[in-house]
Amino acid sequence: MASVVSTAATGSLIGLALGDALGYPTEFKSVPAIEAAYGPWRGLDLPTPAYITDDTQMTLALARGLRTAMERGPLDAATLEPPVRGEYVTWWRSPDNNRAPGNTCLTACRLLSEPGSPWAAASRTGSKGCGANMRVAPIGLAPGLTDQQRAGAAQLQSALTHGHPTALAASDLTAWAVRLLAQGADPAELPRLLRTYVHAERTTYHADWLGDLWQRAGAASPEAFIAYGWDECRGALDRLDAALRNPDPEADPCLATGEGWIAEEALATALLCFLLFPEEPVTALRRGAVTAGDSDSIACLAGAFAGAHLGADAWPAAWVDRIEHRDELLSFGRLWD
Ligand SMILES: [Mg+2]
Repeated sequence: MASVVSTAATGSLIGLALGDALGYPTEFKSVPAIEAAYGPWRGLDLPTPAYITDDTQMTLALARGLRTAMERGPLDAATLEPPVRGEYVTWWRSPDNNRAPGNTCLTACRLLSEPGSPWAAASRTGSKGCGANMRVAPIGLAPGLTDQQRAGAAQLQSALTHGHPTALAASDLTAWAVRLLAQGADPAELPRLLRTYVHAERTTYHADWLGDLWQRAGAASPEAFIAYGWDECRGALDRLDAALRNPDPEADPCLATGEGWIAEEALATALLCFLLFPEEPVTALRRGAVTAGDSDSIACLAGAFAGAHLGADAWPAAWVDRIEHRDELLSFGRLWD
C-alpha cells in the first residue's frame, strides 16, 4: 500500500513540524494580538530558531514506538502498546518537555510510568483534548498497514492518554485523512470521504485493541461508547461543510469550526485551513497559526494534511533547513516514503 504521493510521509512530517513551530508563539493569543505582534497573517514568518512544541515531540514519540513495533512483527495491540507507552513516558520524563504540554498527557504518562499497571488504568476516559490526534499522523503514513491495523493503532495510541470516545474517533479519522491524501485523494472530495468513513465505523468497537476501555468509561455497550465519538466527529464535519459552502479566507477559522482545544474541533479547523488553500501549503499553515484557538495544533494538523497531499516539495527550503528535529523527521520520511 505505497503512497501515490511519492514523498507524502516526508511532506507530512515536515509540514506538521513547521505548522507546530509557526503556531508556537501565537497559541493563547487572539488574532488581533497576533497581527499586532507579527503583522498581517499572510506574511507570518517561521521563527528563528524554529522550536517545535509537544505536538511534534509526541508525534516523534509515536513514530519511534510505531517503528519499533513494526520491526517486531505484525502490528497489533501487543506489539504496539509497549514501545509506544515507553516512548510516551520517555517524553514525559524529558527535560525538553517544557513546551506547554497538555495536562491529560502529563497525568496519563505519570500513570503509564508505573511498571506493571495496565495501560487502561492510565487512560483519561473523560478527556477529548486534541493531544491524541495532533500526534497521530505517523499511523496514517506508515505503509503496509491494513485498514483494521491503522484504525486500531490510531485509537490505541490515543487511548494510552485520551480515552474519551471522541478522542479515539478523531484520532482514527485524522489518520485516515492523512492516508487518503497520501493515496492521492482529491482535497475537494475529502469531506465526503471522511463522512463515509464515519458512517461505516460508527458502531465498530476495536476490542482487540481497546480491551475493556468502554466498561472503564461507564458506557452501556462497546457500540454505544464508540458511536458517541463518531457522532461528535460527524457534527464537526457538518460545521466544516457549512464553512466551506461560504468560505471566508480572511476570517479566523476558529469562528466557523471551533478553537481546536478538543479533538474533533482541532481536526475540523485544521481541515478548514487546508481546504481553504489546498494548493498553497504555506498559506494554509499561516491561516492555522493565526487563529484565536490552539494555533500550534491547528497549524500542525493543517501541515500534516498539506504535506501528505503535496509531498516534500510543498515547503520552503529555508524553513525546512531550520526546523527543530529536521534530521529525525526526514529519517522517518525516508523510512515510510
Ligand atoms: Mg503544542
